[in-house]
Amino acid sequence: MTLLPSPREHLTCPTTVAAVRIQNAVLAATRETLTAKGFTELLMPIVGPVTDPGIRGSKQVDVDYYGHKYRMMTSAILYKQASLLAFDKIFCIAPNVRLEPLETASTSRHLAEFRQIDVEMAGASRADIMGVAEDVVRASVRKVVTELPGELEELGRDAGAFAELLGSPFGTMTHTAAVETLRELGHPQSADAEIDWRAEVILSGKVSGPFFVTDYPKGCRGFYDRESAEQPGVLRNFDLLAPEGFGELASGGEREFEYQKLILRMRETGENPAKYGWYLNLAREGLPASAGFGIGLERFVRYIAGLDEVWQGTPYPKIPGVVSP
Ligand code: AMP
Ligand code: MG
Repeated sequence: MTLLPSPREHLTCPTTVAAVRIQNAVLAATRETLTAKGFTELLMPIVGPVTDPGIRGSKQVDVDYYGHKYRMMTSAILYKQASLLAFDKIFCIAPNVRLEPLETASTSRHLAEFRQIDVEMAGASRADIMGVAEDVVRASVRKVVTELPGELEELGRDAGAFAELLGSPFGTMTHTAAVETLRELGHPQSADAEIDWRAEVILSGKVSGPFFVTDYPKGCRGFYDRESAEQPGVLRNFDLLAPEGFGELASGGEREFEYQKLILRMRETGENPAKYGWYLNLAREGLPASAGFGIGLERFVRYIAGLDEVWQGTPYPKIPGVVSP
């Protein structure tokens, strides 16, 4: 069981203070970058009748909403797609609650409560939105490196670690190529499954800059990642992995938006379409095609700050299974 320092010790610890200043710079750079590209920031709901079901292994939190069973948001995906009815380019810094399994308390990268920098753009292709993700990550790291050298020094983080990120385009490999690489490295990775966090750490430990993994097989993602028309069974999605073993920073992709296909994909993924009334009603009347992504804010800060544990970078951390304020 992970033991957290007391709230006073944690909040006043120089590591926490430096990491929170980095988080602040990331949020400022994200807002500057996206606003300059014409994105509008929306404030998203915290509870709702239904939320993102694509949260492998973790549990949703129920809320009694005047006698109706509502849920804490596990991601903003449904509202992101809906918001495009009024705004072509949106983003939000949205809180997510996921009761992750107890064994994730020791992965260094799971919290039960975290935030995503969540972006969605109508009419965008996967390549378009990967470009936006790359710009947000690069602008955030550049701001930290230029404006917070003292904080990086306090954390013992060498700014040289970001040379490739700041200077070169991010790499890309397909899920199939990632599976081959993992097998060559002796990790038994299934070709039709999610790349688990241990495998991600292996892949991520081999490189010195962030890279995208694209084209995940259908079985391992939620109904909203759009299936390729040319390659059935393959999704038009991606993950962004940080180097140095830090693993996944973001997930994204083109979205399914067609009513009939959404129903089909919900059924395939074991979801009951009847639960998604408000969202499916919008889809039936027409939702825009779009692509988007979500960057885990605390994981991003962990990477920039070079922290051993994701909870070290957040002022009021919730580690799975650990009772805390
Ligand atoms: P997902 O929808 O699961 O891909 O989550 C989107 C992003 O949020 C991931 O790429 C991570 O950076 C972050 N994330 C997901 N789950 C957690 C968690 N339990 N704790 C901290 N960050 C998370
Ligand atoms: Mg993911």
